[in-house]
Amino acid sequence: MIHDGEAALRFPVMHSGARPCEGFLYVTARGIDYDPVFDPRPKEAFSATRDQISDVTISEDSGSCSFSIADPVGDQSFRPLYEQGNFRRPSLGFTEMDKKTDLEFVSYLVRVYRDFSAAEQELVKGKTAKP
Ligand SMILES: [Zn+2]
Repeated sequence: MIHDGEAALRFPVMHSGARPCEGFLYVTARGIDYDPVFDPRPKEAFSATRDQISDVTISEDSGSCSFSIADPVGDQSFRPLYEQGNFRRPSLGFTEMDKKTDLEFVSYLVRVYRDFSAAEQELVKGKTAKP
């Protein structure tokens, strides 16, 4: 898809925080953007270029991924959002299978971030293979 005029992959995510919000994380060759479209609070939105992002980590315990982003954005953490407005909390029936799925989701997200051009080429191949 195209986001702000450039090729992007879009991930539905829950943004961790004191009051979690929900939206789309856009990964592009330029960086990452977060848009809390399902819970619009403009303060939570951000746009970060790769030179502002210093660390990307995956937490196997929580099935989340985190980005260390330069001030004023700061550290940001995300979990998969599978269905609009219906994210699952770990305290409410979080099974091993769910956690595996969460980890696959965030691992793919991070892989796309780390090698966007390879991910983009996979997408192009997928597109041309469709009838
Ligand atoms: Zn948020």
